[in-house]
Amino acid sequence: KAKAAGRNTHRFYETGMDAALAERTQLEIDLREAVRAGGLALAFQPIMNAAAGTVSGFEALMRWPHPRRGMVPPSEFIPIAEETGLILPLGDWALREACRAAASWPDEMRVSVNVSGVQFQRPGLEQSVVGALSAAGLPAERLELEITESVLMQDSEAAVSTLLRIRSLGVRIALDDFGTGYSSLSYLRRFPFDKIKIDRSFIVEIDDPETAAIVKAIVGLGERSGAAITAEGVETSAQFEGVRQAGCTEVQGYLFSPPLPAEQAVAFVNRQKRAA
Ligand code: C2E
Ligand code: MG
Ligand code: MG
Ligand code: MG
Repeated sequence: KAKAAGRNTHRFYETGMDAALAERTQLEIDLREAVRAGGLALAFQPIMNAAAGTVSGFEALMRWPHPRRGMVPPSEFIPIAEETGLILPLGDWALREACRAAASWPDEMRVSVNVSGVQFQRPGLEQSVVGALSAAGLPAERLELEITESVLMQDSEAAVSTLLRIRSLGVRIALDDFGTGYSSLSYLRRFPFDKIKIDRSFIVEIDDPETAAIVKAIVGLGERSGAAITAEGVETSAQFEGVRQAGCTEVQGYLFSPPLPAEQAVAFVNRQKRAA
């Protein structure tokens, strides 16, 4: 009897695996088609100056409105794009599209684009950046690339030299999701980041004195190396107050705005200016 149950469990499990694999394969096929047909979009989330309450720029975030499944989150399709190499054409597209959008914003607005570690493993990222800037007619100073420490983990020397070349164009480099990795602090010594983005997991706990002390320490480190500090995922005014007291210079999160469709970004800036 136990044997039969075991067999059934086994068969059930296999079917479950098959279903998951089939679904994943279908998603990959759909993603390939979406990349080909231009079926992805960028949303733009405002990044606010903490002291002035003004918009300093926007982070571009990929969106995939799937014809049957609805919105597929980046946490699902970015890993597939990375494993299949689709992140290369997608990443190029995001750079071009983000620069094109930013060229239509007021002069002081920057755009931040997330760049995957896979894009650093292939040659051509620098050319891709140069191409996107010149196609849009956007000054390099208005583009910022967001990378995570995984970029520096793989082949640190090659990645650092690519980053330095891109930075010498005038493009800013931000370290994203700071504090979530294995040895975040050591990466600050390896590259002169222009910005550090403190991960949301610290912000949700900012009312805890120890967490607040850590955030203050990160701000201190950043200031010494000339990096601006952004708090990610600020959702409440208490969190906003907490990160302001800790010295974060920029804030981003649902409290100010969710990521917006491209055509609403300029309207948000204008609303903010009128309110100020
Ligand atoms: P990330 O770069 O750290 O982006 C911040 C994420 O936090 C975004 O999720 C954003 O929508 C979300 N967020 C912003 N404010 C709040 C808040 O107040 N509360 C909460 N709970 N979340 C908030 P999203 O858009 O789902 O993107 C997730 C991740 O996917 C990004 O994390 C980034 O790592 C990756 N990603 C998105 N777009 C791209 C892209 O164009 N290229 C690459 N390589 N990765 C991307
Ligand atoms: Mg980011
Ligand atoms: Mg982040
Ligand atoms: Mg994140």
